[in-house]
Amino acid sequence: MRITVKVGTSTLAYPTGRLNIRHVEELVKVLSDLKNAGHEIVLVSSGAIGMGVGKLPLSERPTDMPTKQAAAAVGQCELMYTYDRLFTEYNHVVAQILITGADFDHADRKQNLENTMFRLLELGVIPIINENDTIATEEISVGDNDTLGAIVATCVKSDLLVILSDIDGLYTADPRKDHNARFISVVETITPEIEALAGGSGSSLGTGGMATKLRAAHIATEAGTDMVIANGARPEILYDIVDGKRVGTRFIGEGRA
Ligand code: GLU
Repeated sequence: MRITVKVGTSTLAYPTGRLNIRHVEELVKVLSDLKNAGHEIVLVSSGAIGMGVGKLPLSERPTDMPTKQAAAAVGQCELMYTYDRLFTEYNHVVAQILITGADFDHADRKQNLENTMFRLLELGVIPIINENDTIATEEISVGDNDTLGAIVATCVKSDLLVILSDIDGLYTADPRKDHNARFISVVETITPEIEALAGGSGSSLGTGGMATKLRAAHIATEAGTDMVIANGARPEILYDIVDGKRVGTRFIGEGRA
């Protein structure tokens, strides 16, 4: 299987911006093991801004664009240094790919990206992708890595997209506020009712915006890719997801039901 895994800042770093060593080490170990088992792995990783905040003399996540860009430029180095070091321990080679939303709007740039990605996969490399935060100001950015993960997954024709977050998946209501909230383990069609679960003021179902995850699910499933939202606190969960077990919320790709 070709598997694209998107991992969010909440899994990779503590609120201080410092690396969550346990999560990152486990993630790299599981991804390396899945690769050893014969799967192809593409990793879409956030965390550049968060880690930049941890390294720079900044007390909190910046709100102004130049400081965000500066933090991302610093943090991206730390992020890749960490991945390179940890994947090397398991004899895997990684590549860094930084893209912006505009790259997908230009046929030639998109083609260049695809050529690079497919060649890297042929060479047995694990591409690690993030938005190019130095360049990607609002007008040209994808904006969030859930959507970026879905675009990348369809671009490389992944069989599966996994979004690792700080939530278990999709619920019928916010489980922290509503004891009757039911967990939804399979979504065969993204109906308006499902859509409605992501929106609404104050009803965000978990801290990692469900709206961007549903947008990602739309993009992935339309292209025939299954997408699973799962909790990244235990990266071993990826084994069960790849085995098709019922963990997290699985959105069934068109033509796969
Ligand atoms: N590109 C951002 C970063 O690396 C993350 C964007 C997102 O997680 O949605 O910090």
